Amino acid sequence: GGRAVKKGAEGYAPIRQDYEDFYTRRMYYRIHDAFNRPICSAPDAWVDVMERTPVDGQKPLQVTGATKRCLNLGSYNYLGFAAQDPYCTPRVEEALDQLGWAAASARADAGTTPRHVELERLVAQFLGKEDAITCGMGFATNSAFIPLLAGKGTLVVSDALNHSSIVAGVRGSGAKVKVFDHNDPAHLEAVLRSAIAEGQPRTGRPWKKIVIIIEGIYSMEGEMVRLKEIVELKKRYKCYLYLDEAHSIGALGAGGRGVCEQLGVDTADVDIMMGTFTKSFGSCGGYIAGDRGLIQYLRCHCPAHLYATAMSPPAVEQVISALHVIQGLDGSDRGKRKIRQLHDNSNYFRRGLLEQGFDVLGDWDSPVMPVMLFCPAKLPAVSRYTLERGLAIVVVGFPATPLLTTRMRVCISAAHSRADLDYALEVFKALRDRHHLQYCDAETASR
Ligand code: PMP
Repeated sequence: GGRAVKKGAEGYAPIRQDYEDFYTRRMYYRIHDAFNRPICSAPDAWVDVMERTPVDGQKPLQVTGATKRCLNLGSYNYLGFAAQDPYCTPRVEEALDQLGWAAASARADAGTTPRHVELERLVAQFLGKEDAITCGMGFATNSAFIPLLAGKGTLVVSDALNHSSIVAGVRGSGAKVKVFDHNDPAHLEAVLRSAIAEGQPRTGRPWKKIVIIIEGIYSMEGEMVRLKEIVELKKRYKCYLYLDEAHSIGALGAGGRGVCEQLGVDTADVDIMMGTFTKSFGSCGGYIAGDRGLIQYLRCHCPAHLYATAMSPPAVEQVISALHVIQGLDGSDRGKRKIRQLHDNSNYFRRGLLEQGFDVLGDWDSPVMPVMLFCPAKLPAVSRYTLERGLAIVVVGFPATPLLTTRMRVCISAAHSRADLDYALEVFKALRDRHHLQYCDAETASR
């Protein structure tokens, strides 16, 4: 700490270069021994993880072919739709028979099937919006669609921890971007006020429009957006609001309608609702839902709609079927029960970790649970220990997080049983004692 940060020859600050050397030269192989292994089964409550050869100096690691059955605390399989499902799977198989695996064309050419049209109708209806457009990839939904919503003369005000796909979209848009402190409405307001007072750079003319971009649940923080306050600000300062619900759609709200339902916000107050099908729906792709005119504009102009291959039909069918189950259109209450189970599981596990004295980030009902390690040197040992004890768990450090907020990230699923979670809590307790991870006391936990 306290060292001057100077720009180096390649534009890197030397202090950061040290960290990169540390990670790439000294810890890289060790870390990669501990995680980043091939998963060779469906990402259900339990998964088969491939064994790798042990650390041997600087040699690249090989998979041995042997597998280890682990409790899966790493996948975004929030509602348990990623593996076999009695309602979804037969329908996906039927779509595969009828329509084949590949769309083999862009949506605007020969890649639109009736199932794509049905999916867009269902998504719009689910969110209470007039229309929706889908895209073959969640990442590209942000990176390719944002440049059509913001351009020269637009101001984008973006949360400091927004996902890299949002950053890519904003950078590609040519809009002026200002970042506000993570999930801090007071700072957002300060940024808006000064940007509006200053106007566009050089000319000082008023902004053509202002777009605020936020996420429903922040994927490295497990935290819900402070949506009510931000909607207030968006109205007061006449901005558009773009909400990325990759992690919150399906997972929040009693009906799985996301963070608006969870926090009691009308979806009419969110102009552009973006989300992915890769988490709660167990498929791939993404969507944008909004007013009819907006979606029609995107259909006519977005290169990802005109020139990228459409979602594969079985993947489309998986989302349609999952949406049926979530809304009870399969004639059962399984969807509602899955969502309740997800919230119960998440809260049970979060409470268990807090009672053990772990420093856990995020909100109640959120299935994303970052568990702080702080010390980056603990990361490989912690990862290897949990893997040895049968937990598949993602550990996150620099450059995905600042060096000193190194963490594990637990993702809970409705597919986990109480016995699964109790087993994981037992391993965490042993882990805490072995690696001195008790950062909070019981009093903090009960709050
Ligand atoms: N937005 C957010 C907030 C995400 O976390 C992610 C990836 N997890 C994406 C977009 C990209 O979605 P996908 O993985 O479906 O491409």
